[in-house]
Amino acid sequence: MLYVVGHKNPDTDSICSAIVLAYFLDGVPARLGDLNPETQLVLRRFGVMEPELIRSAEGKEIFLVDHSEKSQTLDDLERGKLVGILDHHKIGITTVEPIVYLAKPVGSTATIIGELYFKNGLDIIGGENKELKPDLAGLLLSAIISDTVLFRSPTTTDLDKKIGEKLAEIAGIEDIQAYGMELLKAKSTVSKMKPEEIVELDYKEYNFNGRKVGIGQVEVIDIGEIQEKKEEIFRILQEKLKEGYDLILFLITDIMRGGSEVLVVGNREAFERAFNVKLEGNSVYLEGVMSRKKQVVPPLERYYKGL
Ligand code: MG
Ligand code: MG
Ligand code: MG
Repeated sequence: MLYVVGHKNPDTDSICSAIVLAYFLDGVPARLGDLNPETQLVLRRFGVMEPELIRSAEGKEIFLVDHSEKSQTLDDLERGKLVGILDHHKIGITTVEPIVYLAKPVGSTATIIGELYFKNGLDIIGGENKELKPDLAGLLLSAIISDTVLFRSPTTTDLDKKIGEKLAEIAGIEDIQAYGMELLKAKSTVSKMKPEEIVELDYKEYNFNGRKVGIGQVEVIDIGEIQEKKEEIFRILQEKLKEGYDLILFLITDIMRGGSEVLVVGNREAFERAFNVKLEGNSVYLEGVMSRKKQVVPPLERYYKGL
């Protein structure tokens, strides 16, 4: 059986892309963790069931979406048969056998699925161009909106907007901006969440030249919602650092202002050098920084690799 699965700590792109790609590939959509509130809202809105939770790749054919980092996927991936990857991040994996691999530097994995569909090209990755029903189009649109922060993130491309509009038409969503704001609000309902939940919400682990680095992110419309929880979040990060990390960053992204306050725990020098900033306290505001994959991971990896 073919399982289509996104990364650990699944976000809306990982879940929705897995569901829609599984439909085109005749596979089973799967997930590696609990859904966040935004993704729950999306599935409820379009009446789609949540994917099956899997813990092992053993005996399964696996198609990865929205990631290719070893640290973000099934722990025992090598026990299954990896057949393909569809992604919009940097290449994080090497394989021992040839696989289908398609990645593009666009705003979301859902954008690539949409492009394949509209160009009648699902066969290129081993699928079939079956009709995209309104509910599934709605999922893809939601994933694009979520990953691009309603087309505000610097990862946004013209293709994301173009595909988004076509998907909205099929999904019957007339006002993308209004629907997008609804989603962003769900994304940033941190006021009701415990600090430990906020830390884990969108946390990713990386291996940079043998060093373990963690980068978490929360995107908020109202920065005040998280203000009084910052100290507790910092304390949780310090505790987490003991799990063999060299550095942990936590981005509090202010969607409206278009930048991120970065909490820094561990190797402060690595952070200062990678970003060419001086840390006064435990955090610094980086103007214009909204994207982990495009603006945070690259300078860090360059630093750790001595490039
Ligand atoms: Mg993702
Ligand atoms: Mg994504
Ligand atoms: Mg994201």
